[in-house]
Amino acid sequence: MSVRQTCLALGLIALLFPGIAHAAGSEAPARPNILFIMSDDHTKRAISAYGVDLAETPNIDRIANEGVLFRNAFVTNSICSPSRAVMLTGKFSHFNGVRDNGQPFDGSQPTWPKMLRALGYQTSIIGKWHLKSEPVGFDEWQVLIGQGEYYSPRFKNKDGIDQYDGAYVTDKITDIAIATLEARDKSRPFMMLYHHKAPHRNWMPRADDLDRAEASQFPLPPDFFDTFERRPAAKEADMLIADMFLSYDMKLQPGEYDTETGSGGAHHLPNRAELGESVWAQDYARLTPDQKEKWDAYYSAVNAEYQAVKDDPAALARWKYQRYLSDYMGTVKALDDNIGRMLDYLDANGLSENTIVVYTSDQGFYLGEHGWYDKRFMYEQSMSTPLALRYPAAVAPGQTVDALVQNIDLAPTFLDYAGAAVPQEMQGYSLAPLTAADTVNQGPWRTGLFYHYYGEPGGWHNVPEHYGIRTRRHKLIHFKGEHDHWEMYDLETDPRELKNLYGLAEHADLQADLHEQLEALRVHYGDPHAGH
Ligand code: CA
Repeated sequence: MSVRQTCLALGLIALLFPGIAHAAGSEAPARPNILFIMSDDHTKRAISAYGVDLAETPNIDRIANEGVLFRNAFVTNSICSPSRAVMLTGKFSHFNGVRDNGQPFDGSQPTWPKMLRALGYQTSIIGKWHLKSEPVGFDEWQVLIGQGEYYSPRFKNKDGIDQYDGAYVTDKITDIAIATLEARDKSRPFMMLYHHKAPHRNWMPRADDLDRAEASQFPLPPDFFDTFERRPAAKEADMLIADMFLSYDMKLQPGEYDTETGSGGAHHLPNRAELGESVWAQDYARLTPDQKEKWDAYYSAVNAEYQAVKDDPAALARWKYQRYLSDYMGTVKALDDNIGRMLDYLDANGLSENTIVVYTSDQGFYLGEHGWYDKRFMYEQSMSTPLALRYPAAVAPGQTVDALVQNIDLAPTFLDYAGAAVPQEMQGYSLAPLTAADTVNQGPWRTGLFYHYYGEPGGWHNVPEHYGIRTRRHKLIHFKGEHDHWEMYDLETDPRELKNLYGLAEHADLQADLHEQLEALRVHYGDPHAGH
């Protein structure tokens, strides 16, 4: 058997019997440390390792360059709490019980942190948790309350709530994470979930980063003024940048505009304008006087630009887009700086070689594609997510992987690298074989991804429940609800997913084939809710 054949066989074994093929296990030192870095709403387009020029992220790039960059990583359900539950359990939403942001995580179910703790790992979660129930399975935990606050953040822990007046959330999460590593029992391997709030809405940068040089002009996506032909669900979604709040999103202060005109995704709420203004007032009030001085010095000038565009809807939308991207990238800068601090800490303490560092986000995000912000849809920008893995002791640097991977794979991957058995009930596959040799990247890996978004309680952003399949080239989606319609895309000829091919006679064979593959995946993953 050739090396390539052996690798293909290993890949097949991993596919059929995840947990058996420990590609790294035979050579790697026993029990690597694990640092699982996750951010919130960080799209691949805002990471320079992916070759896009919107943000410079030299420290996230270090993880990718010194390890593996996954170019086709996706989520199963593009929304915050459900993604976190998937990553803890290795199971789809219909099995882990968190289908939307309204459902609390049942901490009594099996998770990979619990399994590693039982093996002797010292386990911790620092930062964003956002699963309503308290963390279970961690020796140490300090987590933000709900979505958390950018300034003067509060952290909940076993003893109560601590508020850090004047601190910036991304800096403080890192301070606590490093202090927790410093105080750990150094005779045991550690596993830490180092999870950031940034770059989640409403994108409040660090006061000292506001006047950074790159906050200038961002290119407008060609589909920014999308008209949504043959895509009724997308047409009715309330996530246009043009409809962002002037207050909460754009950060205009009272007196800098006449009336709040944005819906902010809360089209259904009669008091949406007051909501945007009151939440923004609360967020701004968390800044110290010194921070407010820097904040006002920067924003008073850019806020004044509003007067010149307020009466022209297209000009106002373009202006909002620039403001949005500038603030988003501002929060990414602090995120990347702090990941650099953490990587430096690992280096300085001799931990880098035997620590698996994973960087990902809970999902992707729209940066103006279709004119949107937010996530939820099965379209590429929000179904995809960044993923990089570094493990110098066992994984060669400078690799890229094109295989279709999904966030259900993370739990099996961590267990596999730690030498633990992967429970049969986990629905993903260890990524270790993919990181062991380039030759398996195109091997017998999965050929289609299953996706299911369940809608949002309360109707925020007005995106209906939908499910579908993404293959390497095509996508088939069924939108439930009022319109009950299907969409089909050829990602090779139409990467922006603007031409819905469903129902066109010339694509009938492809359509039938995708229907068959989708049904096979639905059965494979045991999803009882997909279908008519
Ligand atoms: Ca999120």
